[in-house]
Amino acid sequence: MKQSKEIVKDFNIAKFQEDLIGWFTAEQRDLPWRQDKDPYKVWVSEIMLQQTRVDTVIPYFNNFISKFPTIEHLADADEEDVLKAWEGLGYYSRARNLQHAVREVRDEYGGIVPETKDEVSKLRGVGPYTTGAILSIAYGVPEPAVDGNVMRVLSRILFVWEDIAKPKTRKLFDELVYAIISHENPSFFNQGLMELGALICTPKSPACLLCPVQEHCRAFEEGTQKELPVKTSKKSVKAVELAATVLTDESGKVLIHKRSSKGLLANLWEFPNIEIQKDLSKEEELTSFLTEKYGVEAEIGQPFTTISHVFSHLTWHITVYEGKIRGKVEESETLKLLTWEEAEQYAFPVSHQKMKKAFKERQQD
Ligand code: SF4
Repeated sequence: MKQSKEIVKDFNIAKFQEDLIGWFTAEQRDLPWRQDKDPYKVWVSEIMLQQTRVDTVIPYFNNFISKFPTIEHLADADEEDVLKAWEGLGYYSRARNLQHAVREVRDEYGGIVPETKDEVSKLRGVGPYTTGAILSIAYGVPEPAVDGNVMRVLSRILFVWEDIAKPKTRKLFDELVYAIISHENPSFFNQGLMELGALICTPKSPACLLCPVQEHCRAFEEGTQKELPVKTSKKSVKAVELAATVLTDESGKVLIHKRSSKGLLANLWEFPNIEIQKDLSKEEELTSFLTEKYGVEAEIGQPFTTISHVFSHLTWHITVYEGKIRGKVEESETLKLLTWEEAEQYAFPVSHQKMKKAFKERQQD
């Protein structure tokens, strides 16, 4: 692996900074989290933007900040309300970690986001990228904020052919950013790289002819921009088959269950569901699962929709059945029989929101 010093040896750092920052100053998108430098808002936006597109994040961010405008508001909020505000964004551990970390900031730092790398990076859910983003954007500290986008852009500009899927390559990019970041305006430097990756230097079709840093770009010079970055393919994704049921009683109330406080989609609400063993029928499995797990006698009807949901490491394929509750339901903290209107107050993962929608549409037919 080449050393960062060698890579930037003949690179015109000052001119690159000027071109990048000049372009960002003139062309940056007007995004709600760019209206002030409040570290809390920068933090919330960066967490939301992980694995989620800007267009999707905007309404969530506005709603979240109007509900929890300060660190104190978020720290004092019920987790249930925080998850509800996050509903649909996915990767819910981000919301739980954010609230946990915000409570740390309230309790240990007097409600003010700390300004040092050591302290910020110890907050729960705050990795090296978010640390760099908060410190550079909110506090003007020249720290790298390197994610996949930035690695793509810099691998093209600086002609780096290392595999960006490898952790040690990330370290190389951190060093490269340390070497070329503007100390006068690290915020616009980092945001400029991110914006360039989002608008111009996109993964499949970089718009090199419109690029403000084209004259610095070695991949453009060599005509290899589409071959970079080097990235080994992802590990295979496991497929899991599930059966779920939307169970209603005689009055039309629906049964929902709260997921465990640990693991995937922790603490969100769902319709009862089970992973299918291949040699039993799904209806049989669901019926015995409902009796054994929840003490609920039910009659499982027809499947009315199938839903697939892709996580980073697995895919759910869910067949969803309608069903009728027979007899009484013992409600608890984690099992509730609610009207549909009441159920609207509870946070469901995206796949279960889709079930809800499909069930309601079917009833209207
Ligand atoms: Fe990306 Fe092309 Fe600009 Fe190079 S010239 S940074 S490849 S858009």
